Amino acid sequence: MAAPWEDVLRDKPAIREAASVAVDAALLEGVLMRTEGEPNASDVVNYAPFTLLPSAVPSALFEQAYAVQQDFNLLVDAISQNKEFLEHTLASTIKVDDFTAQLFRIHMQVLEEGLAQSVFLGINRSDYMFDCGVDGTPALKQIEINTIAASFGGLTSRTAAVHGQVLKVLGKSKEASHLLPNNPSKGLALGIAKAWELYGSQSAVVMFLVEEVQRNIFDQRCVENELWNRNIRVIRKRFRDVFEKGSLDDAKRLYMDGQEVAVVYYREGYVPKNYDQQNWEARLLLERSRAVKCPDIATQLAGTKKVQQELSRPGTLERLLPGRAEAVARIRATFAGLYSLDVGEEGDKIAATAIADPDRFVLKPQREGGGNNLYGEELRQVLEKIRDSPERTSYILMDKIKPQPAMNYLLRAHSPLQASECISELGIFGVYVRQGKEMVMNRAAGHLLRTKAVEHADGGVAAGVAVLDTPYLV
Ligand code: ADP
Ligand code: MG
Repeated sequence: MAAPWEDVLRDKPAIREAASVAVDAALLEGVLMRTEGEPNASDVVNYAPFTLLPSAVPSALFEQAYAVQQDFNLLVDAISQNKEFLEHTLASTIKVDDFTAQLFRIHMQVLEEGLAQSVFLGINRSDYMFDCGVDGTPALKQIEINTIAASFGGLTSRTAAVHGQVLKVLGKSKEASHLLPNNPSKGLALGIAKAWELYGSQSAVVMFLVEEVQRNIFDQRCVENELWNRNIRVIRKRFRDVFEKGSLDDAKRLYMDGQEVAVVYYREGYVPKNYDQQNWEARLLLERSRAVKCPDIATQLAGTKKVQQELSRPGTLERLLPGRAEAVARIRATFAGLYSLDVGEEGDKIAATAIADPDRFVLKPQREGGGNNLYGEELRQVLEKIRDSPERTSYILMDKIKPQPAMNYLLRAHSPLQASECISELGIFGVYVRQGKEMVMNRAAGHLLRTKAVEHADGGVAAGVAVLDTPYLV
């Protein structure tokens, strides 16, 4: 599945020329990030890291990933409404993982009070790698599904134009014309706009809940601008602002500074460090409100690694999606081996297997955002230490996916231009809107390809490991 530019990869002068065109094209197209030094100001910005060349993606697997996205939307939505499933699945995890436990407590409290929210909006991104079988055939295997703050839908809407120009500069105009258009930010905004409309108050706003440190603001602005273009007002607030200025009226309508909020779109709140006591209180206030939360707390819990592992058990998908055998088959085909480390014989056995052969597995805690998983020798050491303690139930084990590497150049500000052996991860954005029991929107909204050097086992773009890419279908 090599891309048709192996010939130019070693032509250093041509590559250098193309790289300088690429960087300027990225700046012109708006593939931007704020700098580490000034993460909350736009006076100095830089390009977000990206590959010089698009990476080859097998077209059959690309289509498979799109074809299963509506199924995953239905699945996530079904889990979020299944109190017993979440309770049962997360029971062992919440005993040892405080963060998941706190989310779960809010989930239960809101259910006990009775849900004020009647319109539901899901924006997720299902991520895959192409596992290389013994005979060399690649297979689509899901890494995880992100149900909160799935990012880069904005910036990735602009990388195809950059890569198209790079290919032209390198004498590959025909290939440039084959790059697919891709605009997740528009699809995401359509979902938010639909939820806003169904909420039914012309004067209400959409609130982006954002982090204290906002380096990736341009990615979010892409979605914001799509909403402004539809005459929907957007405000950006932090948990701290909600704590200080948020309130509910008698009908649990959410107000910020006296402004009614129709939709809360979280780009924050997915890791423990996002929360102090006040932020937890702010989260609870938002969850109790009738505003459309994207995601609501149940949907966030549906995206935990523990839930992912439980889904791979025989019979679970069938129970969650009754009468949808084809959807179940499409979903299951993307699953890699996943294993519970719960206390008991099953967990003992797989822990022993992983300690004996750590390179076959990835050890994952209930965390998001990259850089948390354990591999190889480190996996072995940690697992050995916790194998006889309940602490091990805060992790899951997963088969390690082994993609075929390909040569590319990763362009990063202030870094030398050098070729790297790379592997890619494909994400498909899913958007759905449910009103009461009725699905009123369910679609795939575009894709994201991220690529990293093989020497990094873990980590996304925000973690400084992966870079933005564009798929070239082969
Ligand atoms: P996070 O929620 O932190 O993003 P992920 O499950 O997506 O957690 O893992 C982070 C990164 O680790 C992925 O982007 C991928 O590069 C790598 N990774 C995760 N699972 C596997 C796996 N099963 N095989 C190989 N690499 C993996
Ligand atoms: Mg991930």
